[in-house]
Amino acid sequence: MFEFTLTNSLNDALQRLCRLTGWKKVTRVMIRIGGVRKINPELMAFVFAAAAKDTPAEGALLSVMILPVTVKCLSCGKISVSEDSEISCPLCGSKNVQILSGLELNIEALEVENDTLNYD
Ligand SMILES: [Zn+2]
Repeated sequence: MFEFTLTNSLNDALQRLCRLTGWKKVTRVMIRIGGVRKINPELMAFVFAAAAKDTPAEGALLSVMILPVTVKCLSCGKISVSEDSEISCPLCGSKNVQILSGLELNIEALEVENDTLNYD
């Protein structure tokens, strides 16, 4: 399942960031995933919670934002948002489409605790 691969890369990225920045704890992670990747956000959160155990991201809240899939139909030439689980043109039904967006995979925002900073 793609959720596992994705969670592993996410975890690697978070741990690398924590090492580089000295962040002690990640409390919230927001990611944006293109709809083409067909991620199940609940499964992703579940896998992430298990994978983040014993890392600075343990217990972090994961928010997954699924981005719409925009396609350009190569049959009718229209650009539209494909709502289908199959990637196709919603106007004429053609599967002969070019994906314009929907492949994104980004960390959108992080909330961290850094106990080396002291604002008191
Ligand atoms: Zn079309």
